[in-house]
Amino acid sequence: MIAAKKFATPRCVGVLTSGNACLRKRQHGDFCAYHQKANQQVVLHLIEVNGILHFVDDKNMVYDSEAVVTKQPNPRVIGQCTKIGDTMVML
Ligand SMILES: [Zn+2]
Repeated sequence: MIAAKKFATPRCVGVLTSGNACLRKRQHGDFCAYHQKANQQVVLHLIEVNGILHFVDDKNMVYDSEAVVTKQPNPRVIGQCTKIGDTMVML
């Protein structure tokens, strides 16, 4: 065993809903326990779209907030958004 390996603690590559990188210890592949679960579906970000907070994935697909909050397995996509200036708007 190489001693240096003990200090190499790769961190989760997931992103928190705040937009910051998740720095939890990896437990399953590249992800912490939380993001491993999240990554089985889609990683969602809480983003303000048209002035209302919505759950949006990396492809700017907007999900049905109620379905996400109530942890339904496949939340419905209600639309797509795009960034105009500093504002996200629904297409
Ligand atoms: Zn994580």
